[in-house]
Amino acid sequence: MGGLEGGIRVPGILRWPGVLPASTIIDKATSLMDIYSTVAKLGGGMPPQDRIIDGKDLMPLLQGMVPNSDHEFMFHYCAEYLHAVRWQHNISDTVWKVHYISPKFTPEGAGACYGSKVCGCSDEKVIYHVPPLLYNLSNDPSEKNPLPTDSDLYNEVLQTIQKAVAHHNATLHAREYKLAPYLEKLENPKDRQILSRYRLSAHSLLIESGRHRQNYKPRENRLCQQCPQEAVEDEAHFLLRCPKYSAVRDTHFKRLSDLLSDFTSKEE
Ligand SMILES: [Zn+2]
Repeated sequence: MGGLEGGIRVPGILRWPGVLPASTIIDKATSLMDIYSTVAKLGGGMPPQDRIIDGKDLMPLLQGMVPNSDHEFMFHYCAEYLHAVRWQHNISDTVWKVHYISPKFTPEGAGACYGSKVCGCSDEKVIYHVPPLLYNLSNDPSEKNPLPTDSDLYNEVLQTIQKAVAHHNATLHAREYKLAPYLEKLENPKDRQILSRYRLSAHSLLIESGRHRQNYKPRENRLCQQCPQEAVEDEAHFLLRCPKYSAVRDTHFKRLSDLLSDFTSKEE
């Protein structure tokens, strides 16, 4: 469904007698990402501080202590592609949405991707809107009538949203993939595939997901929690040494170990 309202927007219902006021309707957009920050705070914890967390603490909004969601702008992605941005104006309360990219529905004229089952995010599976489509969701909730692109209002609203996008982009940092040079050593694409799959699915680095129990320690001192080796939890340990993954390594990975013998993910 891409960034269209029916695909991304659902009501949320919360009940907490004595803490949240009953029978209250809050018409402000929040995000599922907020659950993480909210629950962490309620539990007396804190989300990891070494990265930007997009979720916000919902409690002030839910308890009526603030009038607006912390998400004045919401960024709707399909994979790594920004498809749409919603702007709920804090003062006028008007909701605007701009679409940069939307999926090509199949069959033609349908409201979803029945042909391919899942909508694509890029390339020939989408429509790139140049100039972008802008809707006033407050009076056009079904996104039927885009504003004329030559109107002052279109330009004014789009400019504000573009500024928010630039600000948002400045918070995104490419994560260095230390395995990349080693992937290039593997001439057989199948080997590269095995290694990538293993990296992405067979294990997950707790250190990367922010769930490591030793988050209070510097990264280089956090130890693997999945084996008793007292080894630093890094790519090299997981890929080549952690006994927890020896079976998967022996099945899929044996001949790659030689190629990767000088692999190290430690900071130089
Ligand atoms: Zn280990």
